[in-house]
Amino acid sequence: MDDSTPTTRVDVVIVGAGPIGLCFANALSRQGVSSMLIDRQPRSAMAEPASDGREIALTRASQQILDQLDVWSRVGPAERARMRAAKVFDGQSLFAMQIAPQASLEEPLGCLVPNQVIRRAAHAALQNTSTGAGAVLWRDQQQIARFQANDGEVDIVLASGERIQTSLLVAADSRFSTTRRAMGIPAHIHQHGQQMLVCRMHHDQPHDQTAWEWFGYGQTLALLPVDTHCSSLVLTLSPAAMEQQLALSDEAFDADITRRFGGRLGAMRRIAEPHRYPLVSVYAERFIGHRQALIGDAAVGMHPVTAHGFNLGLQGLSRLAELIGEARTAGQDIASPTLLRRYQREQRLATAPLFAATLAIVGLYTDDRTPAKWLRKAVLRAGEAAWPAKRLIASHLTRSIG
Ligand SMILES: Cc1cc2nc3c(=O)[nH]c(=O)nc-3n(C[C@H](O)[C@H](O)[C@H](O)COP(=O)(O)OP(=O)(O)OC[C@H]3O[C@@H](n4cnc5c(N)ncnc54)[C@H](O)[C@@H]3O)c2cc1C
Repeated sequence: MDDSTPTTRVDVVIVGAGPIGLCFANALSRQGVSSMLIDRQPRSAMAEPASDGREIALTRASQQILDQLDVWSRVGPAERARMRAAKVFDGQSLFAMQIAPQASLEEPLGCLVPNQVIRRAAHAALQNTSTGAGAVLWRDQQQIARFQANDGEVDIVLASGERIQTSLLVAADSRFSTTRRAMGIPAHIHQHGQQMLVCRMHHDQPHDQTAWEWFGYGQTLALLPVDTHCSSLVLTLSPAAMEQQLALSDEAFDADITRRFGGRLGAMRRIAEPHRYPLVSVYAERFIGHRQALIGDAAVGMHPVTAHGFNLGLQGLSRLAELIGEARTAGQDIASPTLLRRYQREQRLATAPLFAATLAIVGLYTDDRTPAKWLRKAVLRAGEAAWPAKRLIASHLTRSIG
């Protein structure tokens, strides 16, 4: 690299200022560690993100982490939807497994917050961090052109030509991470061959703050409670069926969704633009490299059906930020192989079982062959009878940190 170009020095460089990158910069700043956030998007789009239709189910542990980062206080009470219970249906059966431990509206099973609200709050929480030991620098509408990891630092050149030196390069640039690829880290990528549509619906009957997951034949449906007569629809279909669904007129779309839910919530009406996502799960073979680490979806891109992607990402970034803070306090290298290996070990232990279980659930519930149909009925009935199994699912949602 050309030595005559002026160089910016920063402790950690984070590629991707999505919710995970933003919260990681925040957690580092609190440890007195400086960082630079690089994102393709303009800063205005990060400050006031557009709706992407996602309603994020947050565990109690995630709410605590967001609270420590001063993000939770920026999510207004009206933007938090409390989930009191969850029901899982199979096919046309009226039988449902119910997941509702001692949950109540005061002690709910989980809390749903629109993704753009989390992103806006995570951006706002960084507002007073432009100077000082834990300063956060920004490079928006920008990306990395090339980098080289050396013994004591990583040399980075941005597309603008700016040169940066850092102790640690972190990829937080989505499950399709180009930085992960440039680091030479392979990933297991599962193309599920389906697409997911999300949008808010109004319904005549109240939902009693209960989430519905419905494994019908040829489709998977979910309804996430937002307001008494409003839920977020999650519909999974093949790409061809999705094309037909999106080509429907407003009236035909509403009638079709009402029919798919068997009229159980009365007439349903779309009240927001639908968003469509290809279903791809990703698990990186390694979460670290020499002076390099992956966080968020760049490390583990979960299938949304079990609603854990952001929750696991939050746990991971706090784990890594804490290790970095401890090393900084002890006057040690903040990107030593020992530190990074510990992050990798702990984060893989926390994510691998859920990732595998989610793939198994997706496989079981999207297979419409007769043996799979019998098996899932048996699983649901076993789940309904087996209180320890249900408690396990519920306790994951309601678990606190510490
Ligand atoms: C329909 C749906 C529902 C979901 N529901 C839940 C849920 O209920 N609970 C839950 O925990 N999780 C849920 N998730 C998962 C959650 O949304 C993700 O885990 C989370 O958004 C990951 O955040 P991230 O910051 O890692 O990545 P992203 O949100 O993908 O952000 C990546 C950022 O990197 C930037 N970027 C990309 N490439 C580059 C580049 N080359 N250079 C610079 N910048 C770049 C992008 O502009 C973006 O700002 C859901 C996901 C979907 C699709």
